[in-house]
Amino acid sequence: MRAVVYNIPVGEAMRGYGKPVDAYMAGCVAGIASLILGEGVLCRETKCVAMGDERCEFEASRLSDTPMPTHTPANSRNKTA
Ligand SMILES: [Zn+2]
Repeated sequence: MRAVVYNIPVGEAMRGYGKPVDAYMAGCVAGIASLILGEGVLCRETKCVAMGDERCEFEASRLSDTPMPTHTPANSRNKTA
């Protein structure tokens, strides 16, 4: 699921920053998509006016379709059971 949003104030104010800055809007898109789909959704900003793009775009995917990274806490490495 993709959403295009124009004229987001934070992105507009930070034109030229070089990184996506509208994480709060990604959260809004995730919340709306979650309500529509009835399940958890992850969302990330793939284009942003702060990176020089002409508009901000957000890509949302079902949490159930997204592989979760495995995490090994640093202090658990090299321990013997
Ligand atoms: Zn943006």
